Formats: sequence, C-alpha cells, structure tokens
Amino acid sequence: MSRSKTFNIKCPSCGVPQDVELYEAINVSTEPGLKQALLENKLNRVACIDCDASFRVDMPMLYSDPKNHILIHWIPETAGLTKDQIIADFDQSLEQINAMLPPDVTAPRVRLVLTRVELVELIFLIEAGLNQRVVEYVKYSIYTRNMEKIDPHKFRLLLDVMDSTEEELCFVMQDVESQQLGSILRYGRSAYQSLYELYEENSEEFFEMFPGPCISARNLLLEDSEEA
Ligand SMILES: [Zn+2]
Repeated sequence: MSRSKTFNIKCPSCGVPQDVELYEAINVSTEPGLKQALLENKLNRVACIDCDASFRVDMPMLYSDPKNHILIHWIPETAGLTKDQIIADFDQSLEQINAMLPPDVTAPRVRLVLTRVELVELIFLIEAGLNQRVVEYVKYSIYTRNMEKIDPHKFRLLLDVMDSTEEELCFVMQDVESQQLGSILRYGRSAYQSLYELYEENSEEFFEMFPGPCISARNLLLEDSEEA
C-alpha cells in the first residue's frame, strides 16, 4: 500500500510555510501512476502556494513493486546524516527486522539507495533482468581502469538501460556536485554475460565485494580511498 502524510514545510524560495501531502511509501503495482510521477521527477514535488516556485521534497521513501519483487528504500543524504550513518542505521534496522521474523520466513530482499537517480537506475536495471552486483562490478572495473578521467569522488556512473542495446550496455557519467549528465561509456554485453556466468559459478566473491543492502561500486571505491 502507498502511504502519504501531511507535512508542514517552508518554501525554499520565499519561506512561506505550508501543509503539503508527501509520499513515504509507494506501491507501484497497485498505483502505477506514482511510478510514472517518480520517473518524471514529479513525485513529492510541491508548487508553492505563495510564489509558485516548484521544488521537490526529498525524504526517506519506500518503493515497492510486489509484482516484480522489487523493494527499494531511498534515504536521501539531506536528512543531515552522512552516507556512512545512513548505511549503518539501515543495516541495524534490517538486522532487527530479520531477528523478529520467524525462522521459516525469508526476509524480503531490500535495497538501499541514497539518490533519486540511483533509485530510477535500479528500477530499470531490475526490470531489465540485469544483475545489480554484476553491473556494479562492471562499473568498478570502468572506474579503476579510468581513475584519472572518472574520479569516483567527482563522478557517479549510471547504467542507462533505455539507451543500451543488444550489443552494448550504456553508462553515463554524472557530476556528483552539479548533477549534470556527461560523457557516455559503452560496455560490451558479451563481457557482461561472461561476468554473469562467473557470478553464477561463484557468487560468493560478488557478495563479498557487494554485501548490500547498498550495492554501489562508487561507495566501495570511496570507502577504500578513505581507508588508504
Ligand atoms: Zn514560495
């Protein structure tokens, strides 16, 4: 079920406080219109009652698509928490949920993302039948082979399912600070397929590299660079 609540917020443009209805959880199996709104960047978007400014309010939101077995939590970094804190808190609450479940119930597979673009990317990725750990492994190798040009501190690599073809997966660079999309990088499907076969034979290594629930080559590289 989708869930929305009324929040009192201040317009970032003119400062006028107002009550707005925002979604905390959306079920797109029952309400596909909400998925459309999310993809069009219209979900939790507010038009100020006073100055007409249009702005998006980012807050923790659960995206669920039971028909396609998709459950993704989006926790934006805007809540004043750092990425590490968000991931640690999330891990802790997952552990608590798992501990409360009866032993014969498998916990739903839930993913964590920190930005709207990553949420949209992940929805398309899962719907296209791609494996997220293998895709992130591909990103990891693109980053590490092009460290000078694609610094993970500055750029996010996003899989662009819509522009990918049968021969190639298409990745686009996003400047983390300005959010601008830039160069496009292509990666052969056959190379992805070979990696996927490797994953099927020996998935432990992929799980070790990306345990989840936040599966991100960029985060892994940033962690490594902090430790170095
Ligand atoms: Zn306003």
